[in-house]
Amino acid sequence: MNLFVIGLGLIGGSMAIDIRNLNEDFRIFGIDNNPDHLDEALTLGLIDEKAEFDELHKADMVIVSVPVNAALKVVPEVLEKVNDEALVIDVGSTKSNICSLLSEHPRRRNFLATHPIAGTEYSGPSAAIPNLYKGKTNIICEVEKTAFKLQEKAMKIFYDLGMRIRYMEPNAHDKHIAYVSHLSHISSFMLGKTVIEKEKNERDIFDMAGSGFESTVRLAKSSPAMWQPIFELNKENVIETLDEYIQNLQQFKDLMEKEDFDAIYREMADTNRIKDILKGISIKTT
Ligand code: NAP
Repeated sequence: MNLFVIGLGLIGGSMAIDIRNLNEDFRIFGIDNNPDHLDEALTLGLIDEKAEFDELHKADMVIVSVPVNAALKVVPEVLEKVNDEALVIDVGSTKSNICSLLSEHPRRRNFLATHPIAGTEYSGPSAAIPNLYKGKTNIICEVEKTAFKLQEKAMKIFYDLGMRIRYMEPNAHDKHIAYVSHLSHISSFMLGKTVIEKEKNERDIFDMAGSGFESTVRLAKSSPAMWQPIFELNKENVIETLDEYIQNLQQFKDLMEKEDFDAIYREMADTNRIKDILKGISIKTT
C-alpha cells in the first residue's frame, strides 16, 4: 500500500507514525513545500522516501495535512493526479470551504473530508508523536459523497488509530468548532499579549506566573501559519463567538465596577458546570 502524506507537520507526521507502526506493508511517501521539513521527516523516520506531486498516480491513499488555505489549492491538484481507486483524505480544521469547492469535482468520490480533534500547540515534523489520535474524535463531513469502498478503507485506518467517528455537516462543524477551538486560541493569544505587554514594564511578572497562567496561555504557543488561515476561512463564525465572548467579559467588568461580588460568585458557580460537561474528555487537544 502506497501512502502519500502531503504536509509533514504535527498532524500528518503523527498519522504517519501510527500508520507505519500498525501496517508493515505500507510504504510512506512524503511531500512538503518546505525542503527542511522533508529532510527532517526522512531523518525522523516519519516517511520512507521523499516524493513529488507527479508521483501521485501510484498512491493508494493520500493524506493532505497542510494549512487550510493551502489545502484549497493542494487537494484539487491531488485529485487531478491520483488514480481512480485512490482515497484522498483532508484533515483541515475548517470544512465548509473545501467541501463546497469540491462539491462538483469529477473526483469528489475519491475525497473524504475529516477533522481529527487532536493536536498540541507544536508544529513541524519534530512535533509529530505516536498515539496522538488514540481515544480522540474524528469529525467526518459529507461522508455520503465518498465512494463506499473508500469510506471503508478510511474507517479501518481511523479505527486502527483508536479514533471515534462523528458525522457532521460542514457548516455545523465550522460553527461548533469556532466555539470550542478557534475562540479558545484567540482567548489564549490575547491573554498572552496582555501579559507580555504588561511585562515590558514589570519584568518580574513572569516570576509570579503559576500553572493556571501556563495552562491558560498554552495555546498562544501555536503556529500563526496554521491559525491565521483558519480564522480567515471561518471568519463569520469566529466573529460571532468573539461578540459573545466580549459581551461576557464586559458584563464581568461591569459587575466588578458595581462591586456586585454576589453576582460574580454566581457567574463562576454557574460556569463550574464545565467540570461535569468535560468529564471524561481529554483537555490536551486543540
Ligand atoms: P504543521 O505542523 O505546521 O505542518 C504543516 C506542514 O505543511 C508544514 O511542514 C508546512 O511547511 C507544510 N505546507 C504548508 N503549505 C504547504 C503546501 N502548499 N504544500 C505542501 N506542504 C505545505 O501543521 P499541522 O498542525 O500539522 O496542521 C496541518 C493541518 O491539520 C491544518 O489544516 C490544520 O488546520 C489541521 N489540524 C491541525 C490541528 C492542530 O492541533 N495542530 C488539529 C487538527 C487539524 P511550512 O511550515 O514551511 O509552511
